Amino acid sequence: VLTGSANALNLPAIDMLGAPFGWRKGEGDWLGVSSAIARQAPIQVIQEAGSDLWQSHLPAGHPFQFGFPEFADRNRQIEPAARVWISPIHRTFAPPVESAIESDLPKSSDLPKSSDLPKVQWHPRVLWVGIGCERDTDQALIQFAVETVLKQNHLAIAAVAGVASIDLKADEVGLLAFAQEQNWPLRCFSADQLKAVSVPTPSEIVAHEVGTPSVAEAAALLAASACNLSVKKQVVKRSGLKGAVTIAMAQAEQEYTSRIGKLHLVGTGPGQLDQITPAAKAALANADVVIGYALYVDLIRSLLRAGQIVEALPITQERQRAERAIDLANWGLTVAVISSGDCGIYGMAGLVLEQLQAEQWNGKTPEVQVFPGVSALQSAASRVGAPLMHDFCAISLSNLLTPWRVIQQRLISAAEGDFIVALYNPKSKTRTEQIVFARDTFLQHRSPQTPVALARSLYRPDEQITLTTLGDMLDHPIDMLTTVIVGNRSSRNYQGWFITPRGYLGDLDDSIMGDFE
Ligand code: SAH
Repeated sequence: VLTGSANALNLPAIDMLGAPFGWRKGEGDWLGVSSAIARQAPIQVIQEAGSDLWQSHLPAGHPFQFGFPEFADRNRQIEPAARVWISPIHRTFAPPVESAIESDLPKSSDLPKSSDLPKVQWHPRVLWVGIGCERDTDQALIQFAVETVLKQNHLAIAAVAGVASIDLKADEVGLLAFAQEQNWPLRCFSADQLKAVSVPTPSEIVAHEVGTPSVAEAAALLAASACNLSVKKQVVKRSGLKGAVTIAMAQAEQEYTSRIGKLHLVGTGPGQLDQITPAAKAALANADVVIGYALYVDLIRSLLRAGQIVEALPITQERQRAERAIDLANWGLTVAVISSGDCGIYGMAGLVLEQLQAEQWNGKTPEVQVFPGVSALQSAASRVGAPLMHDFCAISLSNLLTPWRVIQQRLISAAEGDFIVALYNPKSKTRTEQIVFARDTFLQHRSPQTPVALARSLYRPDEQITLTTLGDMLDHPIDMLTTVIVGNRSSRNYQGWFITPRGYLGDLDDSIMGDFE
């Protein structure tokens, strides 16, 4: 019920907030904070680590206040009703206060004092634990050392991203077993890599033994891609446990998500929501991030879910869109990249796959799945009858990414081959000659009476369909929202219906066979 109320306010559920980023939930009064959100009370968020991407994708009028606005802006007199910490620090909260979870809105005079506020904490996995140890150190000692150092520094074990060491330790039994038990990745570096890192506590003895003056500190810094340590080298031993451990910790700017990213390449159909496949809808709903051209994002906005990160980008930036999607997926997020119609027909799917190849993608990670959609040529056909009943092709008249002479050659071949042709991107404000060339080319092989459909803004509120002929097609408006279908030599207009016969058996005459003989 409480999660549902966040959803009704178009807000991410507080107990799901960090899920896309692999954050771990810490202790807290989750019910108390959820109910404060449900009553639309001010919620203070203090984020000390992890991605703040979610903050910039909240709906207008959301209840979150970031940082300490009550100190920064005294005039605003903000009294938060709950607090959310997003931090590697483990905080111990007083037990929930009864009044804070009552659903009645507290009167302003008896707002809970700061210490009584319901509070929760999320732990982004930002801490990399550098570990050095003697050969055959007990797993129990490694565990004790990590837990002790975390505790001494008030750091949450849930905030640990993984462990790092020197490659000599890649087969250290206790270390491997411990990392596996915690489900932490172990990142190992060579002595040369470690040697290149400047650290606060280098050791000549270590340098002599393994060829780098620092293992724990240097490995933590490398794994975290950080310049400063959160915890300098500590040496831990314990009587009764074999070995000795050195521990250091560094905090990464970007959290480790532990998730395998996914790229969903989704075709959202021509415009109307009921023309989207259920599979594509599910792919949109499951995505952490939705990326697409602003117009298409607006068309499907009602299918999006509270808490999703939606990046609507201008039409010209297809390559940037593809790169952004891949970056987020490489980091572990599930990203839906949308195109209108079919994603793989003059859409984003090819751009994303090309870019993945340019980045030496291994074909598996991130996972890619393509969701087909109803393309403009099918939508256009559906509105005028059955023009695509025989062999057809699609030709885009846009010469932005294809040389014009190639497009010309394809038009000539299609006209000669008697293909029904769907013309995409037929005409823009500045690109007006291509459609004239196309018409003239078809006229050399087909009668001026050949039916032509001009289908604009299909399945959108301003849809406009014109059924005309090859001879007259240029007397009607054609623009970039239009798809043009040119019939073949046997297509006809019957009572306003565009019909292309299914076959020519028994109907072979010179007009069809002319060019092939
Ligand atoms: N991936 C899209 C095509 C993108 S190219 C698809 O499969 O449909 C853009 C061109 O598609 C436009 O210039 C226009 O020719 C055509 N188009 C896309 N959506 C359309 C619609 N709703 N109505 C008419 N034409 C459309």
